[in-house]
Amino acid sequence: MNTNAKIFVAGSKGLVGSALTRSLKSAGYRNLLTPEKERLDLTDHIGVKAFFESEKPEYVVLAAAKVGGIHANNTYPADFIYQNLVIQNNVIHQAHLNGVKRLLFLGSSCIYPKHAPQPMREEHLLTGPLEPTNEPYAIAKIAGLKMCEAYNRQYGTKFIAVMPTNLYGPGDNFDLTNSHVLPALIRKFHESREQRLPEVVVWGTGTPRREFLYVDDMADACLHLMNLPDSTITEELTAYPKPCFVNLGTGVDVTIRELAETVREVVGFEGRLAFDTNKPDGTPRKLQEVSRMKALGWEAKVTLKDGIAKSYQWFLENQGNIR
Ligand code: GDP
Repeated sequence: MNTNAKIFVAGSKGLVGSALTRSLKSAGYRNLLTPEKERLDLTDHIGVKAFFESEKPEYVVLAAAKVGGIHANNTYPADFIYQNLVIQNNVIHQAHLNGVKRLLFLGSSCIYPKHAPQPMREEHLLTGPLEPTNEPYAIAKIAGLKMCEAYNRQYGTKFIAVMPTNLYGPGDNFDLTNSHVLPALIRKFHESREQRLPEVVVWGTGTPRREFLYVDDMADACLHLMNLPDSTITEELTAYPKPCFVNLGTGVDVTIRELAETVREVVGFEGRLAFDTNKPDGTPRKLQEVSRMKALGWEAKVTLKDGIAKSYQWFLENQGNIR
C-alpha cells in the first residue's frame, strides 16, 4: 500500500481498530477512513452501500465486531451471532462490489474446535464441535472467513483473514462483567489494592490455559500482511484450498492462575488469590501454532509482562474514560 492509499478501517474506535489506526498513522498513511458509529452504522445495509459507493476505499480492514468475554458471550448469544454476521456480510459484499484491492478480516482463535489438538493449526478448522460458551460468535467468524474464501474463489478477490489469540492493550474494555480476563484482572487487582482488600476473586479454577497478544503487535502483523506482495498473497493465502486465514499469536500460553499472578505483581497487590469455581472455565486450552505467520515473515515482539505493564499504565492514565 502506498501512503496515499485510501484505507477504510471498519471499527476504528475499538481495541483492535484504534491500534490499527495508530499503527497506520505512525507508518505515514494519511488517507484513512475512520467513520464514527453515528455516521456509519455497519449493520445498516443501505448505509454501508452508500458509504462504499461514495468513498471508494482501495483497502479495507474489517475490525468492527460485537466482542466480549466469556460472560457476555454466554449471556447475549443472539447479539453476538446477529451483529457479527450482518456487519461482515455488509462490508465484505460491498468491498467486492466496489473493487477493493485487498480486505483483511479480523477473526478469533475461538473458531477452532473445543478439543482441537494443541497448538492449533489452521488445518484444524471445522474438525470438531466448538466451545459452547462462545459458539454463536465463533460461527459468525467462521462464516466471515469462509465468505472471504468464497469471494476469492468465485471473483478472484484478495480477501484474507487473521485469527488473533486473546488481544489486550490500550483502549481495552475494562468492564468487570463483560470484558475479557486480562483487562478484568488489571482492574480487579488495581481496585483491590486501592481499597486494601485481602483478596481478588478470579473466575473458574485457574487451570485453563490462554495465549495473549499485545494489540500493537497485532496491528503490526496486520500491516505486514496488507503490504505483502500480490504474488505472495495469491500463492500463499488465496490459492484455494489453502486457508485464506492465518493464526496470529505468540505461540506461548499461561494458565489463568499464572496470568493472575503476573497481573498481581505488575499492579503491586499484596493480598491473596481466590478462585470462584461457580464461574465457567470455558475451553481448557487454546494455543495457536504460529508457523504460518512466521513463514510469511512476522513474529510477536512484546512479552506478556511488558504488555501487561503497558496496559496497566494506559489504564492508570485513562481511568476517567475507560469502558
Ligand atoms: P475466553 O478466552 O473466551 O474463555 O474468554 P475470557 O477472556 O472471558 O476468559 C478466559 C478465562 O479466564 C476463563 O477461564 C475465565 O473463567 C477466566 N477468568 C478468570 N477471571 C476472570 C474475570 O474476571 N473475567 C473474565 N472474563 N474471565 C475470567
